[in-house]
Amino acid sequence: MSTLIQNPNHIGCHTLGQSESFFSGTQAIERDLINICAYDILKGTDDHFDGYVASGGTEANLQAIWIYRNYFCQEKGLKPQEICILCSEDNHYSMDKAANVLGTRIQKVRVTVDTREITADSVSTAIGVQVEKGTKAFIVVANMMTTMFGSVDNPDHYIHALEENNLPYLIHVDGAYGGFYFPFSETSHTMDFRNPKISSVTLDAHKMAQAPYGTGIFIVRKNLIHYVNTKEASYVEGEDFTLIGSRSGANAVAVWMILSKYGPFGYMEKIFVLQKRTSWMCDQLDKLNIPYFRNPAANIITIKKEGVSAHIAHKYGLVPDNHQHPSWYEIVVMDHVTVDKLNMLVQDLKEHQEQ
Ligand SMILES: *Cc1c(COP(=O)(O)O)cnc(C)c1O
Repeated sequence: MSTLIQNPNHIGCHTLGQSESFFSGTQAIERDLINICAYDILKGTDDHFDGYVASGGTEANLQAIWIYRNYFCQEKGLKPQEICILCSEDNHYSMDKAANVLGTRIQKVRVTVDTREITADSVSTAIGVQVEKGTKAFIVVANMMTTMFGSVDNPDHYIHALEENNLPYLIHVDGAYGGFYFPFSETSHTMDFRNPKISSVTLDAHKMAQAPYGTGIFIVRKNLIHYVNTKEASYVEGEDFTLIGSRSGANAVAVWMILSKYGPFGYMEKIFVLQKRTSWMCDQLDKLNIPYFRNPAANIITIKKEGVSAHIAHKYGLVPDNHQHPSWYEIVVMDHVTVDKLNMLVQDLKEHQEQ
């Protein structure tokens, strides 16, 4: 609250070069926050990282794609329209925005209907379509929990297919949803900085970490962010490497406080409880023979529309995949979604079946 009143402006990026000296205190807190995310949560090792607290996952994803687009333009002499964003059809729509704003192409990879997975085949088909159209480099966005299904992409499918065809690529992980969940619920995966092929990650603190809105976190390996340095930002001390411009230092303080209050074990316990509740709900759906998708490492259950009436979906605020023509309805198990509340839904589903 006091930081909101003091109102430090975190304009620019504080993990490199100079920054506005009047706000050095809260900038240091932001650097600490970036390090907690890069090293403790995303398991970065001796590599070093740049990053900042963006307005949200949308901006953080755009920032990544902007850096990589400029990298391919400057280093390989490509035009934006020869560069293609490659992502799954369950991707967040911010990738479509990025393609539109940055003038690149975008290609969606098909996922299997019931298990929401990209496959070696669907990835290689998507790449083939783009190579045919003249794409020369790919910006891959791999999902660490999709918004609608909680599904997680296996980045190896992208890596194998692109390397096999000698195509230049860089990989960004969209952990806007899963960044503050999946690393705690699943330890053996290849979606963090232990994987040298992954260059950057988005994590939204205003989703699973329940921080105030305006707390998308962007983290990228060193020696990449300079591709988006706006040298014309001459009145800003240290120039500007971010998409946003002025932004509140209070956002970094809020996220830092939340993570510090939990501590690593407190946060682990939070996720443990949400995992247990989600599994409980899945057991109830199994007993009722209601079809759904759940990634075992996610707090998301997506029920096929056959399993739930539109009335019940509306009563409990279940999220449809498409408001006009729903095929799926989603439950997100968060702190306030207790077993008591889930049980009310179970009872309604049961009653509806008996009618
Ligand atoms: C929410 C979300 C975004 C966009 O984040 P905003 O904070 O709403 O801008 C991007 N990707 C995924 C997977 C998301 O769930």
